[in-house]
Amino acid sequence: MSNATAVIVGGGVTGLSTAYQLARKGYGRVVLLDKGPVGDGSSSRAAAIITGLLWSETGVLARKVSLRLFRELSAELEGYRFQDVGCLNLFDPASWPDRAALLPLYERCGAPFEILDAAEMRVRWPELHPRDEFIGLYDPLGGYSEPDDYIPALARKCRELGVEIREHERVEDLLLRGGRVAGVRTATGIIEADAVVTTLYGWTNLLLERVDLRLPVKAFVHQRYVTEPLPRPLAIPAVNANPLGGYIRPAAGGRLLAGIESADRLEQRVERPDFHLSELSAPESLKDQIRSNFTDYVPLLASAGWAIDKVGLLTFAMDGEPVLGPVGRIPGLFIGVAFHSGGFAYNPVSGLLLAEFVADGRTSVDVSAFSPDRFDPVETASYLDETLAQKHVVRRRH
Ligand SMILES: Cc1cc2nc3c(=O)[nH]c(=O)nc-3n(C[C@H](O)[C@H](O)[C@H](O)COP(=O)(O)OP(=O)(O)OC[C@H]3O[C@@H](n4cnc5c(N)ncnc54)[C@H](O)[C@@H]3O)c2cc1C
Repeated sequence: MSNATAVIVGGGVTGLSTAYQLARKGYGRVVLLDKGPVGDGSSSRAAAIITGLLWSETGVLARKVSLRLFRELSAELEGYRFQDVGCLNLFDPASWPDRAALLPLYERCGAPFEILDAAEMRVRWPELHPRDEFIGLYDPLGGYSEPDDYIPALARKCRELGVEIREHERVEDLLLRGGRVAGVRTATGIIEADAVVTTLYGWTNLLLERVDLRLPVKAFVHQRYVTEPLPRPLAIPAVNANPLGGYIRPAAGGRLLAGIESADRLEQRVERPDFHLSELSAPESLKDQIRSNFTDYVPLLASAGWAIDKVGLLTFAMDGEPVLGPVGRIPGLFIGVAFHSGGFAYNPVSGLLLAEFVADGRTSVDVSAFSPDRFDPVETASYLDETLAQKHVVRRRH
């Protein structure tokens, strides 16, 4: 075990997974700080769907590791089980050619998939009624997690492994000495550190600005809902129903979870360090929109009342890919952010890779394409000055 100290700022799933992986590696002292309780950001609000069928080689290779780790964590974390129901990615004839072009990538990377027409999908999942034109790209390894099980189980395991989790302690500043990271300052004092990992999602730039760093990352409000228990539980996969503008999955207690994009809504600027996601709201009409978009596809939804609403943020980088790795000009500073709507899906591998960067200086998957250093400062400034709607950023689901 080394004498080094790593501070992780942000106790969402990315920060918790990083702490867990560092502790498993026997990395000295690991301190995780959150301004609220763990999971207080978007993590507890996620639908937590995962598919391995992404759009870049780095993404596909990283997700392969996440899919393996979710299964391993099922055995490791008491009270958590990965729901391995598969993930069905739906397309219409207009959107299919772009995805079909990625099939050779999936084959090359060993990411399994099946292409299903509407008739085959109806036979496999009789409760789903796809339009004749729909094409299904089925990921047999995909599925989902319940954040309410996963987050406390992962935090418990971190504590067992010796991670110091400090809740309700906001990081106010990053400390530099001789050009490298020396620690953080919170309201209660200074914590000296050899490495600082920021996993702050919507709040990332607020802290990075303290060291004159800004990333071209924007936040957008996103919402998902859970029904009352259905007359009978649905035996269906998680479905990224792109032509219907959202997604569905089974949910604990024989319920259905559905999420919908608000494409015209302008970005959410996070301008105060004490900003809290409870300040966000979504129009009630979105629930009616889900019903109107999805009822033909899932007829059981017609009579189901809504029981739970969750509203949070998604963060997107200018090029649509995650930002993960060390900051070249500030040794000791590491960042994980901008996981589009897939940060829950990425979290096991994000945590592994961030821990590898901190402890080993190299990673088991080449994620140079996700480097925080890849952006031009002038382009970043003009990107951040514009105000965009979600439909204007790269649209990537889970
Ligand atoms: C409705 C909804 C549905 C989603 N569905 C999916 C899905 O199906 N699949 C998927 O993969 N992803 C999904 N996502 C995205 C996913 O939730 C996020 O990508 C993921 O949770 C990001 O985790 P994180 O740990 O990076 O950030 P967060 O969970 O947001 O954690 C950041 C933490 O930083 C803390 N913090 C902020 N400032 C400070 C400070 N100064 N000091 C200390 N702590 C601070 C916050 O309190 C917060 O807990 C969804 C998101 C939403 C909103």
